Amino acid sequence: MKRIILFFVTLALAVAAVAAGRDTYTVIVSLDGFRWDYTEAFDTPFFDQLAQQGVKAVMMPSFPSKTFPNHYTLATGLVPDHHGIIGNKFRIRDTGKRFSLSDIETRTDPNNYGGDPIWLTAKRQGVKSATIYWVGSDVPIKGEYATYWKDYLKDRLTHEQRIDEAVRLLSLPEKERPHLVMVYFEEPDASGHHNGPITRQTRQAVERMDSLMSVLGQRLASLPIASQINLIITGDHGMTWVSPERQLLAMDFLKEKWVKSIENDFPALIYAAEPQYIDSIYNTLKQVDHIRVWRRGELPAYLNYGTNKNMGDVVVLADVGWVFDKKPKKDLGTHGYDHTCSDMWVGFRAIGPDFKQGYTRAHTFHNVSIYPLLCHLLGIVPSPCDGSLDEVSDIINFTRK
Ligand code: AMP
Ligand code: ZN
Ligand code: ZN
Repeated sequence: MKRIILFFVTLALAVAAVAAGRDTYTVIVSLDGFRWDYTEAFDTPFFDQLAQQGVKAVMMPSFPSKTFPNHYTLATGLVPDHHGIIGNKFRIRDTGKRFSLSDIETRTDPNNYGGDPIWLTAKRQGVKSATIYWVGSDVPIKGEYATYWKDYLKDRLTHEQRIDEAVRLLSLPEKERPHLVMVYFEEPDASGHHNGPITRQTRQAVERMDSLMSVLGQRLASLPIASQINLIITGDHGMTWVSPERQLLAMDFLKEKWVKSIENDFPALIYAAEPQYIDSIYNTLKQVDHIRVWRRGELPAYLNYGTNKNMGDVVVLADVGWVFDKKPKKDLGTHGYDHTCSDMWVGFRAIGPDFKQGYTRAHTFHNVSIYPLLCHLLGIVPSPCDGSLDEVSDIINFTRK
């Protein structure tokens, strides 16, 4: 009986989803490092207009609040511990190789990317999608790409060209036109790292992105399908201050012979040279101020982290504003910290026929719920994930005919 009920509930959800997404197009933009309160601190008329006419919310990233883990969470609805991109860098235990953004071989190895990214969920259900540099989209996950995709390492388009490309894709003849377009921009992350979050230079970067997004908005508004477009602008994580005075160097505490390697920085993933050294590493670092230290598998549940097969033997997370790394850092801003710290939270704006108008959500939502939201907008059935449409149902306009 339970099974029959489950079948009808699934069917009803699928029908509702198909009804919602039948005739609309969704554009989702990620602004790397788009801290939620940049729009309060800086002059951002377009983001303010989106808030007045559409939905304004604050999104909590997943832990760790890093670029690769979170973009791939937005794409799959899985937390990093479950999709496998557990850091910008980590060891692949089966092969002994290192996953890294700058290592083309491991970065583009589909074996490292678990879950079902939205562009594949869509493709399987007959919905065309396009990606412009979204993390994971230039990797042949399960042997496939989005219908239209770009290689981050080749022919890197300028920010303006990415907007041209999104508009071009939405101007294709109906049969070729993608219903989902995902676009990635490196700013304001780069400025936030170099200068710190609330600075003149980061202000300039955010205000520039605001006017660039305004151009995107105007160009989408001039398309014949304008009234059918849902536009989401969000990002992967926030940014906070760091300082040369608050840095701890890992090897000032550890013996060389204990450590095989230290990967990532927030959190630092320490792989022991031999299992017998795990306790030495753990017990030594437990005495150090300004960091939290766990053995793999022993992290607190709210971080949703620490069980993946490629996890370091010991996981070290610096307190917010502190650095624990192999080398000193020059940056004045960074991220990767505990995702419940508000400096790591992300701005979210959405406008279009499937969103409420002039609605500000009072509480943060988790970024794992973006995937089911996109599935709803596209009218497709989501694969199992860690998020839920229920969490964000208050922002949706269900009354649209
Ligand atoms: P983070 O160190 O977490 O701030 O990472 C930000 C960096 O990720 C940016 O400098 C981007 O150049 C890089 N990045 C973003 N998307 C990709 C991608 N698809 N492939 C390689 N690197 C990327
Ligand atoms: Zn980022
Ligand atoms: Zn960054």
